[in-house]
Amino acid sequence: MPKVSVFSLGGTIAMTTGPDGGVVPALGAADLVAAVPGLAATGVALDITDFRRVPGAGLDFADLVALRAAASAAEADGVVVTQGTDTIEETAYALDLLWTREEPLVVTGAMRNPTLAGADGPANLLAAIRVAAAPAARGLGCLVVLNDEIHAARWVRKTHTTSPAAFRSPDTGPVGLVAEGRPRILTRPVRRRLALDPTGTPRTAVIPVVLGDDGEVLRRAGAALDGLVVAAFGVGHVPVRTVDVLSELAGRMPVVLASRIGAGPVLTETYGYPGGEVDLRNRGLIPAGGLDAYKARILLHLLLAAGNDRDRITEAFATIG
Ligand code: ASP
Repeated sequence: MPKVSVFSLGGTIAMTTGPDGGVVPALGAADLVAAVPGLAATGVALDITDFRRVPGAGLDFADLVALRAAASAAEADGVVVTQGTDTIEETAYALDLLWTREEPLVVTGAMRNPTLAGADGPANLLAAIRVAAAPAARGLGCLVVLNDEIHAARWVRKTHTTSPAAFRSPDTGPVGLVAEGRPRILTRPVRRRLALDPTGTPRTAVIPVVLGDDGEVLRRAGAALDGLVVAAFGVGHVPVRTVDVLSELAGRMPVVLASRIGAGPVLTETYGYPGGEVDLRNRGLIPAGGLDAYKARILLHLLLAAGNDRDRITEAFATIG
């Protein structure tokens, strides 16, 4: 009998009506599992842990490092993590980078809380358990399963505020799906892991450039940062008035050039005008490659937290990004 460890962290999937009328994280792993019809028929043995009971926005890197340790220690064929969908695109990517085991680590949540008609939590949890128990999912790192789709953490994004079909991988599509309760892996992404021990607490941020930007926000915010991801226009372009401040910041900390778009890579050698990607690279900015700005910030943060210098960070973005 395959065994899956379930760790519940809170989020909409675990919310019920609170004292002020709105929903709040209240349910634990046992409640979530009890609400899933058809679980016994899967033949999967579960080991459950109430790990956190917070909204997605309440999670931090320390939670993920602790989760990695607890999940690594679990003697199971796969691991399921339930959490708030607000931060899944970031937490799942961090876990993907940090997860060095072959067993699948599957993150899921819900877009509709348990008090709503058509609550999607039970179906998502059931699908996630099936994927975590599936031999075909071994070696795929961290996967995100919602709405019967299986996404690679590296590519998935939350693309809608309320739709149960909010999770999409714009660059690649899902790596698989669950039909008639059976996970079908359609494609196997290349794994890129980091054997890191991210114990530091750097301050990092994503700052977008905007129309008419004069660089003042970047300058002020940059003063408080150890590393920055600038979410640039298009393939990696910024207003000319931000160029000097970005150069200055890149002189004292890693500044990663990503795009505001959320799909497709930043370029490195096409546009040569001031504020174009060739100019910004020459000024020391590090291209994010195909990572969107939020995932680029996760990679940057983990690298800094593990004490990597600029050369190692540049190299990591070149190989992982
Ligand atoms: N809307 C969020 C969710 O789907 C709330 C959260 O992230 O806690 O779980």
